[in-house]
Amino acid sequence: MSIAVGKVVAGYGNMITASFDTNVRQNEVAYVITREGRLKCEVIRVRENVCYMQVFEDTRGVKVGDQVEFTSGLLAAELGPGLLGRIYDGLQNPLPDLAKQCGLFLKRGVYLESLNRKVTWEFTPVAKVGDEVEAGDVLGTVPEGIFTHKIFVPFSFIGRAKVKSLAGKGRYTVEQVIARVEDGTGKVHDLTMRQEWPIKIALRQYEERLLPVEPLVSGCRIIDTFYPVAKGGTACIPGPFGSGKTVLQQLISRYADVDIIIVAACGERAGEVVETLRDFPHLIDPYTGKTLMERTIIICNTSSMPVAAREASIYTAVTLGEYYRQMGLGVLILADSTSRWAQALREMSGRLEEIPGEEAFPAYLQSRIADFYERAGLVRLKDGSTGSVSVIGTVSPAGGNFEEPVTQGTLAVVGAFLGLTWARSNARRFPAIDPLISWSKYREQMRTTLDKMDPSWVQKIKGAQQLIHNGNEIKKRMDVVGEEGTSLGDFILYLKMEFLDAVYLQQNAFDPVDAYNTMERQIYVFSKVDQVLRKEIHVKDKDDARNVFFQLNALFRNWNSSQWESEDFKRFEQQINSFLES
Ligand code: ADP
Ligand code: MG
Repeated sequence: MSIAVGKVVAGYGNMITASFDTNVRQNEVAYVITREGRLKCEVIRVRENVCYMQVFEDTRGVKVGDQVEFTSGLLAAELGPGLLGRIYDGLQNPLPDLAKQCGLFLKRGVYLESLNRKVTWEFTPVAKVGDEVEAGDVLGTVPEGIFTHKIFVPFSFIGRAKVKSLAGKGRYTVEQVIARVEDGTGKVHDLTMRQEWPIKIALRQYEERLLPVEPLVSGCRIIDTFYPVAKGGTACIPGPFGSGKTVLQQLISRYADVDIIIVAACGERAGEVVETLRDFPHLIDPYTGKTLMERTIIICNTSSMPVAAREASIYTAVTLGEYYRQMGLGVLILADSTSRWAQALREMSGRLEEIPGEEAFPAYLQSRIADFYERAGLVRLKDGSTGSVSVIGTVSPAGGNFEEPVTQGTLAVVGAFLGLTWARSNARRFPAIDPLISWSKYREQMRTTLDKMDPSWVQKIKGAQQLIHNGNEIKKRMDVVGEEGTSLGDFILYLKMEFLDAVYLQQNAFDPVDAYNTMERQIYVFSKVDQVLRKEIHVKDKDDARNVFFQLNALFRNWNSSQWESEDFKRFEQQINSFLES
């Protein structure tokens, strides 16, 4: 087979223009051949006999006249057993292996296999010889960590085929043929445990999309109780620099009740990413007691890596997520930060000399953001089971201005908006999710499920939210007229709002107990908080009121850091009860 070739005719930053004589298609992968090595690119625009390519590497030293090879394949992810626990760059190169090969400074043009070719997996056949199969049907399974990894007929397989032979139970590498199938034309295909799927195309091998109605419990009270995210839903965490987006995402990645976590560390400073890489492998999974890394995949592109690979990393992450969803698992994708990804789009759009939209972002920014979040979802698979991909992305608007295009484009498509503000992070009220601007559409959508947990749940939350608004109004007024100008009744309302904030909305990430709350605990604790909020407080003056709430705050905080149902937990609860009965 002859491959299409071309020549570099111009270059501009990490965009290269090449001429060619044969056919080249949009989004196909090409390589620029330089003396130092082959640089991977993606065709992003084709005009007659020239194409524009974004290069995933530093383009230093590329010369006019350098040869270009077109692969005819789209930018794809490699899928198969052995993805869990890995750390990849945006193009799915295993980073630790790259480091082993290249040392501390990664070399250009080195691409390694995403799946290990030598490791063998214990294969158990599920299909039988003679079965009629099609794309997405299960041929067999292998155990991968605590999961049963399904081996599928490749998702790109066209039409129906008959299984001619199937490997018996035994150990195989991802490259050994485990099945031979014959298609309608009589052609025989060799199938292995690995397959590829183009990362920019959503994987749609399911029966139907379902409305997400189950909560994704993050362990973070303000999220789960006030602004819940559904399994299969989407949320964004916008916040200015330093407001706690990364810390919050790390907390969620540790505690969320999902099967698989995919962290896409996208374009943030290297130091922060290194922190993630260093900490993660040592974290213990609260659900399985094993290391968290066993059910995690990290895709990482720091701000010092080429921007085009940053763009790819988001799609690689979501493709791997969709793959595990096909197995009936719940996957959570955490993208930090989607602003850096949007900046990569902007940079490329500028080089293509497209007509810029607001703040020089391309006009299609909103639709790209929507396309990405739409890949989340709860689906019913062919075998009747369900799987989900949930996506939580951070947005880092410059100066915390939420009016900018990436934040606006994101909030138009997500189901929950967890806005962090400096007002809260500067006051050290962590997590700095601001109850005055955050919202979630899932509370209504999950109503039936929530009502089953506690029939008065939604009503209680609405009451508390009302109190937060009223309490803040009083606070604003009090800032002007002072405490003397505020009635005792209003002052107590204000103290109740502060109490709710201090003992429930805020959560200490560094306290081993407080850091994570089960839904059961949240429901239990919130009903007590609710009783305090609704209780009539009899005090003679403001000092007296302040005292009462000072003690209540301390009591609830102690309760929060006591192990669920421990002696301490019961003791503090008794004290709370005797206050409520007083
Ligand atoms: P961002 O990603 O928004 O720039 P980070 O997540 O890196 O911000 O957080 C910045 C700093 O804020 C952290 O280094 C930490 O000191 C503080 N911080 C953030 N979240 C918390 C938290 N939940 N508890 C305590 N401190 C926090
Ligand atoms: Mg950050």
